[in-house]
Amino acid sequence: MNDVIHLLPDHVANQIAAGEVVQRPASVIKELLENAIDARAKNIQVFIKEAGKILIKIVDDGVGMSVTDARLSFERHATSKITSAEDLFRLNTKGFRGEALASIAAIAHVELRTKRETDEIGTCIKIEGSHVVSQEPCSMTTGTSISVKNLFYNIPARRNFLKSDTVETRHIIDEFQRVALAHPNIAFSLVHNVGELFQLPASNYRQRITNILGGKTNEKLVPVNEETEILTISGFVGKPQFAKRTRGEQFFFVNDRFIKSPYLNHAVTQAFEGLLKDNAYPSYFLYLKVDPKSIDINIHPTKTEIKFDDEHALYAIMRSAIKHSLGQFNVSPVLDFDRDPTLDTPYDYQNKQASTPKVEVDRNFNPFRSDARGERSFQPPFKKDPGSWDSLYTGLQGEDTEVSADVRQIEFESEEVTGNLFGASKGGEAQNSTFQLNKKFIISTLKNGMLVIDQHRAHTRILYEELLKSITVSAAVSQQLLFPLSIQFSQNEIAQLKGIKDALEQTGFIFAEISSDSVEITGIPTSVSESEVVMLLEQLLADFENEVPGNNFSQTDLLAKSLAKSMAVKSGNLLNSTEQQHIVNGLFACKEPTLTPSNKPVFITLPIEELEKKFM
Ligand code: ADP
Ligand code: MG
Repeated sequence: MNDVIHLLPDHVANQIAAGEVVQRPASVIKELLENAIDARAKNIQVFIKEAGKILIKIVDDGVGMSVTDARLSFERHATSKITSAEDLFRLNTKGFRGEALASIAAIAHVELRTKRETDEIGTCIKIEGSHVVSQEPCSMTTGTSISVKNLFYNIPARRNFLKSDTVETRHIIDEFQRVALAHPNIAFSLVHNVGELFQLPASNYRQRITNILGGKTNEKLVPVNEETEILTISGFVGKPQFAKRTRGEQFFFVNDRFIKSPYLNHAVTQAFEGLLKDNAYPSYFLYLKVDPKSIDINIHPTKTEIKFDDEHALYAIMRSAIKHSLGQFNVSPVLDFDRDPTLDTPYDYQNKQASTPKVEVDRNFNPFRSDARGERSFQPPFKKDPGSWDSLYTGLQGEDTEVSADVRQIEFESEEVTGNLFGASKGGEAQNSTFQLNKKFIISTLKNGMLVIDQHRAHTRILYEELLKSITVSAAVSQQLLFPLSIQFSQNEIAQLKGIKDALEQTGFIFAEISSDSVEITGIPTSVSESEVVMLLEQLLADFENEVPGNNFSQTDLLAKSLAKSMAVKSGNLLNSTEQQHIVNGLFACKEPTLTPSNKPVFITLPIEELEKKFM
């Protein structure tokens, strides 16, 4: 029998290697940016077209390459950065595998132009699918410019696998930001199609972070500095009251390289212990310097994971350094019993006068009126009288810590509601009676049994259907704000907001202006209170971040789902009988009252027979 093993041709081997190195346009950006940094560039410009699917071009003013090096740079395992395996333990460069250019050239149309300072004339090489198409001298300034066109043109399966432009652009922005945050002394710019997304002058860490994440970031940063024998930490953590609903602003850099480390992340979270609300993630930008000998960055092809020799020690140092900073800058309690209660207040309530909880009832409301006319259209009380809903909602926020006289009164009222029910059923008119159980369920009587409704889920369903209708059919009305609301967002978040702006406006938001790092809102949906807007939008962006919508339909759906969930009454909120009945009526006017938008049951029924059985 013949031998069957043969060596793969280079272009095939390169394509296979490309599968590891290049997952999407953002991976190309990362590799090319790193090469430019390794080439000691001071200015790096990135241009992309259609989320990098059509064109990625990176221009640097680094050292450039000789004619021979330019040609060699596309060979696999061709690198100027290491010569022996030992070099791996004293790496000062980003790259070292010599794989990136070979991989990229295997799956795209690549044009490289490069010139060293000492050379009169530069070199221009064109490569398509690993084949050199042309190589000729060209005139240019010192540095390197690489264009990568039509990524995955020869691997349709990979090309089709790419996500929408919005999603791919977000990945690109993520990679770009990580590299730019690690190298504030280098000027970077990013231009998408014709719009400039970032223009970052050379600066220091604090300015770079602020330039990327938006104007007000500066005030939110607490510096962290610690020097030990095995580790130097510098950088910033965000003040706890500005903690985000997403993990978006969490960055570790080890020796100028962005890394992910769930373990060290845990150390940071531990340092914030007791200072954060549930579901809030602290922001951090932490720059670690360790001896290259003590880490192994070789364990992952895209190199965002890293192995440390002495993780436990790093953990302890990190946690105490951050604790120390939070204490020193007076944002953390020094002694637990001396704790500043404002730290426990969500930030949008910080400067707000505490309001006395009260429940107001729309006296003119007659729950039977619409029924009498034979229509069962749902008109939520909060639409007519947002004030009452609002005070109910915000007033009860602090109920766990403090029970005011008014709250006790409300509970007493709810007891009365129960009494009413009892009375009503005696009179045989139990159909519309409801009461609240455990501040979570609405109980209503049925002809043949009992209905137990989860109040939050029911309200979510009602709002969801309303929102869908206003987004797709007819826009909802807005309440005009007396003073426009200005909210800071990162550029990334702004990009996302722009994508859903139209749909949001249909729900009642009015955006007067969207700048590169903030939005100005002059109108909000009638069922939302001003103090909730920040939370609502942050949650929305977080949901989008996690879900990555592919098409328009699911985008609308996701938007309605997220808003409905945030806007709905929570369990733990006390509802008076009018509000309870509105929810019941509203729920059964829905197209799909049985399930929440995320397919959870909204209510259960307990038939009389089952009850009877229990008494046997
Ligand atoms: P690696 O970065 O792992 O060495 P690459 O395939 O990314 O491998 O690059 C191969 C070589 O090409 C590099 O080692 C470097 O010498 C050269 N090179 C790549 N990009 C540039 C650039 N922008 N400026 C100067 N030299 C470059
Ligand atoms: Mg490289």
